[in-house]
Amino acid sequence: MPIDATKPYDDQNIFAKILRDEIPSSRVYEDEWAIAFHDINAQAPIHILVIPRGPYVSWDDFSANASADEIAGFIRAVGTVARDAGLVPRGYRLLANTGRQAGQEVPHLHVHLFAGQPLGPMLA
Ligand code: IMP
Repeated sequence: MPIDATKPYDDQNIFAKILRDEIPSSRVYEDEWAIAFHDINAQAPIHILVIPRGPYVSWDDFSANASADEIAGFIRAVGTVARDAGLVPRGYRLLANTGRQAGQEVPHLHVHLFAGQPLGPMLA
């Protein structure tokens, strides 16, 4: 069920539990600002989710309310995950569903990183 991205942060959401290691995930990266793990329902040969450590519901919440250090740290982490996965120069796609019409399901900001095959046009 897509979420209302304007709601307050719910610290019982599944990615908050993954961050606290209360439920397992296959982590591929972590630093001061972000963690990354494999999507449980991969839509491409490589499908990784990168999430900030801070409590942000969505891209909208994060871009409006996170500090400059958090934003820079998160964006750098996304790039590092891609490079560490050997995706440069092959290429990859980033996607952040935000709110109901985009189909966001989990109310903790996450960037999808898709790669490993030609990905075709957007919104196909
Ligand atoms: P959204 O639709 O952009 O919110 O994407 C949520 C993503 O989280 C989906 O691709 C799900 O497959 C993924 N997901 C949900 N629960 C888990 C989990 O426990 N581990 C890893 N990925 C998950």
